[in-house]
Amino acid sequence: MSSQKSAWAVAQQQFDLAAKRLGLDSGIAAVLREPRRQLTVHFPVRMDDGSTRVFEGHRVQHNLGRGPAKGGIRFHEDVNIDEVKALAMWMSWKCAVMDLPYGGGKGGVTVDPKKLSLSELERLTRRFTTEIAVIIGPESDIPAPDVNTNSQTMAWMMDTYSMHVGYTVPGVVTGKPIALGGSKGRNEATARGAVFCIREAAGKINLNLKGATVVVQGYGNAGSIAARLISELGSKVIAVSDSSGGIHNPAGLDLDAVDAHKKKTGSVVGFAGATPVSNQAILEIACDVLIPAALENQITAENAAKIKTKIVAEAANGPTTPEADDILFANGAMVIPDILCNAGGVTVSYFEWVQDLNRDFWEEEEVNVRLEKKMVRAFHEVYDMAQKEKSHLRTGAYLLSVQRVADAMKVRGIYP
Ligand code: NAD
Repeated sequence: MSSQKSAWAVAQQQFDLAAKRLGLDSGIAAVLREPRRQLTVHFPVRMDDGSTRVFEGHRVQHNLGRGPAKGGIRFHEDVNIDEVKALAMWMSWKCAVMDLPYGGGKGGVTVDPKKLSLSELERLTRRFTTEIAVIIGPESDIPAPDVNTNSQTMAWMMDTYSMHVGYTVPGVVTGKPIALGGSKGRNEATARGAVFCIREAAGKINLNLKGATVVVQGYGNAGSIAARLISELGSKVIAVSDSSGGIHNPAGLDLDAVDAHKKKTGSVVGFAGATPVSNQAILEIACDVLIPAALENQITAENAAKIKTKIVAEAANGPTTPEADDILFANGAMVIPDILCNAGGVTVSYFEWVQDLNRDFWEEEEVNVRLEKKMVRAFHEVYDMAQKEKSHLRTGAYLLSVQRVADAMKVRGIYP
């Protein structure tokens, strides 16, 4: 079952399918199915009790054909080189779908950051940055936040890199605090991009979003902001969940009240204006738009046939298995694939980098207008490709992005 397959095996399988369908030159395909560079580091961190611990970390650059590597840094106890390789490859395709001048990269440290003090976490971040400083830089490889890293992590990385070179280099990472050259609109960008995609998808199937029903699995950064933005379009959010469970009200949830409850208790569970629903059952509630915004492998061959929705908008990375994709497609649901649907985040990261390099900062309205333009264009390019190929949108997105990266490789040629 694909949920047990390593992420790297899945990533290579997806790539092989796209390469075959595109009839890619076998030499180019062989290059693209492996990462260009992978750096594994072991580094010491002085702990608060005076002891020394050694941590393992990685930075992978999958492809640099279209520009510097771009991708997040994850701090998690399950981080391993195979996972980082897969995430780096997916970043190559995501950047290419959005037509951003980047290749794909990803990094991570095998650590549970919740078990470290803030000062231990800072020392770990700074030493890891130093170890990977040989390959990162504003022209070569630009990290960003991912699972368990945030704008503070990026501030430490930027400061560490800048200390090494002797001057301030804001463009070495994105997702920074606004005070250090972060972009306005970055925090909402992933959700905003997803909602632009949903709006375009609704237009294709003549679904009126005013009054449409929406279910959100994962009421975190991406999910809660997507819920808010789609309700501003007149849709009715009828169920949401987080890691503790879900809540359901067919008449529509009062999101202000849900937010207040979550702020007070740490979860949406126990909200008075709704009935409880499990995280598995929430996916099977009949609705017009389903937004998985939590984890991988949520929609599988086991539950895909029970999903009753018109649009699945993948705010999360990898929520749908390849087997489930085919079932949803056969049942007429339109799945907006992760590499398109959640690409608003990397797109505004790109805007942040452009602003940093030019020392010229934009108002939020300008960021949002530019984001909308890029998301709408990418959605229609993917949609048209899928129509042409009589395939689902994920295949359309893969064909488009892999072809773009391959084209860049072809014209660059092989050095020497
Ligand atoms: P987050 O930590 O803010 O939110 C995740 C939410 O999911 C939390 O509310 C958590 O309680 C909930 N959750 C965890 N396990 C769950 C489960 N089993 N069932 C239901 N809910 C569960 O993270 P985020 O930044 O919103 O990221 C969510 C997803 O979106 C991830 O897959 C991430 O890779 C993807 N994503 C996020 C961004 C971004 O800019 N934030 C960009 C691209 C992709």
